[in-house]
Amino acid sequence: MAASMASQAVARGLHGASAKYLFLDKFKCARVSSRRWLNLQEYQSKKLMQESGVTVQRFYVADNPPDALQAAKRLKAKEIVLKAQILAGGRGKGVFNSGLKGGVHLTKDPSVVGELASKMLGYSLTTKQTPKEGVEVKTVMVAEALDITRETYFAILMDRACNGPVMVGSPQGGMDIEEVADKSPELIFKEVIDIFEGVRDDQALRMASNLGFKGPLERQAADQIMRLYDLFLKVDATQVEVNPLGETPEGQVVCFDAKISFDDNAEFRQNAVFAMGDMSESDPTETEAAKWDLKYIGLDGNIACFVNGAGLAMATCDIIDLHGGKPANFLDLGGGVKEKQVYEAFKLLTADPKVEAILVNIFGGIVNCGASPSQLDCAGIIANGISLYTPGPQLAPLPTISELALAQSV
Ligand code: ADP
Ligand code: MG
Repeated sequence: MAASMASQAVARGLHGASAKYLFLDKFKCARVSSRRWLNLQEYQSKKLMQESGVTVQRFYVADNPPDALQAAKRLKAKEIVLKAQILAGGRGKGVFNSGLKGGVHLTKDPSVVGELASKMLGYSLTTKQTPKEGVEVKTVMVAEALDITRETYFAILMDRACNGPVMVGSPQGGMDIEEVADKSPELIFKEVIDIFEGVRDDQALRMASNLGFKGPLERQAADQIMRLYDLFLKVDATQVEVNPLGETPEGQVVCFDAKISFDDNAEFRQNAVFAMGDMSESDPTETEAAKWDLKYIGLDGNIACFVNGAGLAMATCDIIDLHGGKPANFLDLGGGVKEKQVYEAFKLLTADPKVEAILVNIFGGIVNCGASPSQLDCAGIIANGISLYTPGPQLAPLPTISELALAQSV
């Protein structure tokens, strides 16, 4: 349990409290989530952390090499760390298509930062959490580097099994936390948070001690943990992940990396946070689908699925797979769908060049499937929506049962 939670938490960009895993075949697993949680870049998450009194290193942000160089000089730090900003993790071990290795670079010479940034900005960075072709880097963070004597892992996330937030931590944080969760689950510690009480002092101290913080560092780490929980509540997060939460030789506990995901249901009261959201790293079809309140996830196959209900959509993808086909997508129209959404869904599916066939599998119990004489009529939502799209003749209204009976009796 602890291991699976930690690996859920460490899979940057691939988690959400309601994520389910859809096994299409034994080698491939696609995530199907009914919600698309907002994610922010590391520098944006760190700004929020700073505002909550969480310790992060000094930093500037730049979108061009001269600004990056300026920032490096302005920091007047003993050592500088230059970090590519993309929504995926694993940057430290990533590779750019400029040939540069590593999305996180340490240097004692600020004058090389401009050149390093010129090999990051405008290039794609591929990490084990990005698609193969990588993600284009548009921003870099230029920060004060600190010596790190120990790297730990800490996260707070919503856990359905516990009906609320849970703290997850490991004394062995850093870049290979997925491996720790996999191979040494006993090094992953968990504390269930009582939503009414919040993080108790003894819980924060126990977690700090499990993370291996000793002496005065234990109190300092516990304070950081409590501030991270305050932030978690304040911004309606579904997850706050810090990897590494490190200690320095000067005896400081510092959040060196930051990843926060937000509850989309809270958008109405988190305007400032959601205004920072950048959809440019999202799949354009998924973004378009979200506009119409459709749950769409692109997959690799050629058979599009047009389905209502997440369970039915998963089963439909599995059935296609079982019979040797490959689903091109997961599309859940949801309940309460209108003709316009049906039309937009069809438009999305047919615009995908991979799609060679569409399998329509609609559960009539939650939507009216048949055609109706008037397209404005609320009956016949699915057929009317599809016929709005179909370029050919409009669908004739379906015969009624009595008409069918009459036809048979003639
Ligand atoms: P990612 O998780 O995407 O690989 P991180 O921000 O965790 O990116 O950076 C990777 C590694 O780089 C960290 O585990 C840490 O060892 C080092 N690092 C990151 N920020 C700093 C910093 N400010 N000072 C010194 N080392 C750093
Ligand atoms: Mg990290």
